[in-house]
Amino acid sequence: MKIIDAHSHIEYISHNIQPDVVGTICCATNESDWNNLANITLNDKNVYGAFGVHPWFVDTIMDGFDKRLYDLLKLNDSFMIGEIGLDKYRPNMEQQIDVFERQLNVAIEMNRAIFLHCVGAWDKILHVLKQYKKLPTIIAHDFNGNNEIMQNLVNNYDIMFSIHRADKPTEIRRIEQISIEKILVESDAKPDVILHNVIDKISDIKKEPNAGEIIYKNTQRILQK
Ligand SMILES: [Zn+2]
Repeated sequence: MKIIDAHSHIEYISHNIQPDVVGTICCATNESDWNNLANITLNDKNVYGAFGVHPWFVDTIMDGFDKRLYDLLKLNDSFMIGEIGLDKYRPNMEQQIDVFERQLNVAIEMNRAIFLHCVGAWDKILHVLKQYKKLPTIIAHDFNGNNEIMQNLVNNYDIMFSIHRADKPTEIRRIEQISIEKILVESDAKPDVILHNVIDKISDIKKEPNAGEIIYKNTQRILQK
């Protein structure tokens, strides 16, 4: 089985550790990661970079960060946007929304996939997304919204869901609701997440023996855009 880890961070490059993982999408969390991640992608062709400022780190932004993000993306067609989004349990919601919108503007301008973090703030995320006519592919990482939010996203956006938990009844029910064509798998930089096992669980839940191959192709589609 060939697996691409659809969401990790620079401190954990899963394809160097898990034998059937052939590639890792690494998300930056703040601007001080960007150079380092860009260098890693140049030295290891199996690392794919997503650049941005995570909602936990919006207080680290410096003037013109969105212009520098735009300039960085211009250097390489394969660079994507992430990890960006909103988190209800962190401070500065107004600033989080401002930083999120500024990065969405760059993603739209450059037409790059967006790796999205959302905790407890789907109402706000949907409100922000509604302002835009057309958005690139969005990958909701560790999706925790309810069925209604999922349907809203599926009906209105080119949305994918990257999954690393498939144990609890709520997680299993959520996976049952998502079309296999929209599923990716991720370690989220957690060494105890064995992606092969996550795929086996998804395969059981979806009763799809080819889940691994389908998920691999889903991920490749994002990387080829
Ligand atoms: Zn992450």
